[in-house]
Amino acid sequence: MCASTRLHRFLDLGFTPPSDQFRRKDQLREPDVHYPLQVMMCEDCGLAQLGHVVSPEILYRNDYPYESSTTQAGRTHWSGFASSVAERLKMAPNDLVVDIGSNVGVLLAAFRGAGFRVQGVDPAANIVMLARANGIDTLCDFFNEDAAAAIVREKGRAAVVTATNVFAHVDDLHALVASVQSLLLDRGVFIVEAPYFPNLIRRNEYDTIYHEHLSYLSMRPLVPFFAQHGMEIFDVEESDIHGGSFRIFAARAGQREVSRQVHDLLASEARLHIHSRETLDAFAQGVRSSKQELVWLLHSLRHEGKRIAGVSAPAKGMTLLNYCGIDGDVLDFVTEKSQLKIGRYTPGGHIPVLPDSELLLRQPDFALLLAWNFADEIMGNLDEYRKRGGKFIVPIPRPRIVD
Ligand SMILES: [Zn+2]
Repeated sequence: MCASTRLHRFLDLGFTPPSDQFRRKDQLREPDVHYPLQVMMCEDCGLAQLGHVVSPEILYRNDYPYESSTTQAGRTHWSGFASSVAERLKMAPNDLVVDIGSNVGVLLAAFRGAGFRVQGVDPAANIVMLARANGIDTLCDFFNEDAAAAIVREKGRAAVVTATNVFAHVDDLHALVASVQSLLLDRGVFIVEAPYFPNLIRRNEYDTIYHEHLSYLSMRPLVPFFAQHGMEIFDVEESDIHGGSFRIFAARAGQREVSRQVHDLLASEARLHIHSRETLDAFAQGVRSSKQELVWLLHSLRHEGKRIAGVSAPAKGMTLLNYCGIDGDVLDFVTEKSQLKIGRYTPGGHIPVLPDSELLLRQPDFALLLAWNFADEIMGNLDEYRKRGGKFIVPIPRPRIVD
C-alpha cells in the first residue's frame, strides 16, 4: 500500500492449500498445492499483509465455492446494510449502486428492493450464473478500469460503489481505487466493509487469515492511502459480522464532512498499540498456544474413542484445520449447507463434506464449530443434536466445550 520494505513477519501459519479449493473425489490423487501463509506488518504505514500472494486466477476462477447468502444472520446483515446506507447518504430513487465482488447478489437485491438501480461485478462464472438467475445484472469479470468504463457507458455513474469482503482480497489497491473513482459521481461514495484487524488481534481470530485475504485493514494505513488518491474517509462504523468488521465511507476530498468516529477510531488504534511489535508478537504466541490446546483436546477425545465431526466448512475453517494439522484421522466428516461444497473433500486434510442432515443421522459425540462467528445461530439450529447428548467445541479464541 505504501511500497515500504520495512516488513516485520509476526505470524507464520505454515504452508497451506488455498482455503476454497475443495476437491472432487477424482482429484484426491492429485497433489494439493501448498503456499506459504505468513503475515507481515508494514512498520511504516501499519498495513498488515500476507508475505506471499497467490494469483487471483488460481483463487477465484475455478468454480469458486463461496455463496454469501447461506445464513440468516448474513441475510439480515445485508438488508440492514442497504437500508442504513440509503438513509445515511440520502440517496435518490434510481441512483445506481455497483457492488464489486457481488457474489450471488444478496446485497444488491436489498438495494434493488429499496428502489435503486444495481449492477454487480464478479469474476466467478458459476456464481455469476446464480446472481443472474436471481435477476441481478452482473458483469462476469475482475473489477478494473475497463469494467468501470463499460458500466459508465451502459448505466452512467454510480452514487454508491460497495466492496464488502473484497478490498482485502485485492493486490493492487491503487488501481482498484482509481477505477472506483472513474465510476463514481462527484458526490458519490465508496463503501468498504472488511474484517477489522484490531479485532483479529484482540480476539485471537487467526483462522480469518487465508490466501484470499491479502491485507488486514485498520484505519491508520487507510487514511493516507485514500488521501493519495484525492479521497477522504469521512465516516466509519463497526459491525459484528465475520468476527468484527468495520465499514468505511470514502468520498472525494472536501465533498463530505468528516465525522468524529474517524478520529476516534484512529485514536483507539494508537492507544491499543495495535501495530507494534510487542502486541503482534504476543498475539502470535497466543495463536500457538490456542493451536496446542485444540490439538491436545481433539487428540485426547479421539483416544477416549469419541467421534468428532466439523460443522460447516467456511474458508476460515480450512485455515484452522490445516494449521492445526486436523485431518480425516481426527474428524470423521464435516457438514455444510452449500451445495457447492457437499460431496467434495476439504483442501489439504481431505475430510469428506456431507449435508447438514448427516449430523443427526450419525450423531457424533462432539461437533467442532468451524463457523464460530455464527456459533449461537448454529447451536440453536442443532438443538436436537444437543438433546441427544451431542456436545460442541468452539475453537476460537481458545478451544472450549459447550454442552
Ligand atoms: Zn506500508
